[in-house]
Amino acid sequence: MSTSVENVVIVGTGCAGLTAAIYTGRANLNPLVLEGSLPGGQLTTTSEVENFPGFPEGVDGFMLMDNLRKQATKFGTRFEQAMVTSVDFESSPKKLVCGDRVILARSIIIATGASPRMTGIPGEKELYGGKGVTTCATCDGAFYRKMDVAVIGGGDSAAEEALFLTRFASKVYLVHRRDTLRASKIMADRATSHPKIVCVWDSAPVAVEGVEAGSVSGLRIKNLKTEAVSVLPVKGVFVAIGHQPNTGPFAPALDVDEGGYFKPLIGSQVQTKVPGVYVAGDCADHVYRQAITAAGMGCQAAIEAERWLAEHGG
Ligand code: NAP
Repeated sequence: MSTSVENVVIVGTGCAGLTAAIYTGRANLNPLVLEGSLPGGQLTTTSEVENFPGFPEGVDGFMLMDNLRKQATKFGTRFEQAMVTSVDFESSPKKLVCGDRVILARSIIIATGASPRMTGIPGEKELYGGKGVTTCATCDGAFYRKMDVAVIGGGDSAAEEALFLTRFASKVYLVHRRDTLRASKIMADRATSHPKIVCVWDSAPVAVEGVEAGSVSGLRIKNLKTEAVSVLPVKGVFVAIGHQPNTGPFAPALDVDEGGYFKPLIGSQVQTKVPGVYVAGDCADHVYRQAITAAGMGCQAAIEAERWLAEHGG
């Protein structure tokens, strides 16, 4: 069990966490970053990032995260593999419990991200990340110019993804297991009336085809009313059935909304009700969910932590 008290512990190694590490590192706070099951976060599963400012030719997602990590290390960041299982934010210093280990910290930045929900159908996992199955139209839509794609889901995310994809794709199948979208009326109307979007009602995805070839060749679906099975000949499958913010171990101590996302104090994007504890990135943002917005929140959280430590003895 560790007894030393850290100035700042950052939980998470996505864009938000690593940007917070760069800023707190440069402020000589000697940050400790805890990395969980997906070091580098969601971007490491994307082959190419074309919308991160400063990379006119695009940048490989894994390379971008590796560079952020190197930049953080250069300024004194330390990394440890540890999954936070519970917290005690009423004690001083604050406690992060990681299994049988307790980490003590004056300030904490939580940047644990959100995990896209997946359907779990055969082929989805095998073809995820650069092989045709993706969860982000903003990130990957441009790779499907003049191709047919499918979006799975019936909520606002699915409608939004489908509409965004019409900029690139020839045809967008919107595959939903009911006969109406649950998306807001305005989004549903836009999606259902778009000439490039073909709604495939009452249909559940059964399998993503193309595993042997290493890239998506189709989406097998089953009509839930007739039980008929057919294959949509698509090159891309966009899974848009919602996200799960990774806030579980912290939720009892901090406010979360009905979707489980952290709810920062009114007037701030990153401050929580616990002084010295900040949130950043997708775990606190279900609206923008971009690498650059996560990085921006990581920067804000780091500056807030730095100021708080200066006032409270860092
Ligand atoms: P959501 O509203 O929970 O919708 C998820 C959709 O996926 C539902 O239609 C659901 O079907 C379907 N689904 C779930 N599991 C499935 C499975 N295994 N196979 C096939 N389909 C499955 O999630 P969301 O669309 O991500 O929205 C989350 C929240 O963010 C909502 O409050 C939404 O309004 C908000 N949001 C807003 C905007 C915007 O305003 N621009 C954009 C995105 C999200 P069922 O309908 O049968 O349950």
